[in-house]
Amino acid sequence: MHPSSAVGEYWRTAGDLLFPPSCVHCDGVVEGGTLRHLCAACERLIVVVQPPHCPVCGHPFAGEMRGMRQCPHCVALQPVFQTGRTCILLQGPGRSLVHALKYHRSRHVLADMATLIRAAAGITGYLRGAVLVPVPLHPRKERERGYNQSRLLAECFAAAAGGATRVAEPLRRIIDTPTQTALDRRTRQANLKNAFALRRGAAINAAERYVLVDDVFTTGSTLNACAAVLRRAGGVNLDVVTFGHG
Ligand SMILES: [Zn+2]
Ligand SMILES: [Zn+2]
Repeated sequence: MHPSSAVGEYWRTAGDLLFPPSCVHCDGVVEGGTLRHLCAACERLIVVVQPPHCPVCGHPFAGEMRGMRQCPHCVALQPVFQTGRTCILLQGPGRSLVHALKYHRSRHVLADMATLIRAAAGITGYLRGAVLVPVPLHPRKERERGYNQSRLLAECFAAAAGGATRVAEPLRRIIDTPTQTALDRRTRQANLKNAFALRRGAAINAAERYVLVDDVFTTGSTLNACAAVLRRAGGVNLDVVTFGHG
């Protein structure tokens, strides 16, 4: 694993100056591993996704589920997009990385996320040449957080994929939905209906492939709501990618 992109190097340097490396999961000393913000013991617990996996959400299949069209996580989703991929399972140290980025203003963990993106089988090839569309935050939430973590991840994905891969932001969030984590699928979907819209002046090109980017795949409802907006605007080639699944 070589976190060699300009983005990764920048964050590694800036991050190490501001935050002497201690493990974001166990608070232990970081030395000897590949990652900068997880200790070697926690790094070994990260589950990087390898095939076979669900074609819709990317969750790895256990042996007995091979051949199923969709996994239990997304069988009730009725996806508007075609396929989906994810990089790691959102558990233990992997969850701590996402939480550090999302809730603790720890942008420096992006360097490790970029490393894990490159380690996940086939993700860079999957994204190459696509237009990556981050799931937008409501402007109020983005001001509070200081950034949209999905936009930062989209830049990591684009840098890892290379070529003509690029990030675009044709979507905006017009309703500040409450935290969705504790809600069931039906309530989430009701909350998300009409939560997203096309940005004024944004154009969707039917000849492009759009890949929606979010930090995590939970029920897929958020990504599906965004995909529905792109589809209504003329997008036909729609996929999704997330950093973590769980
Ligand atoms: Zn640790
Ligand atoms: Zn699935």
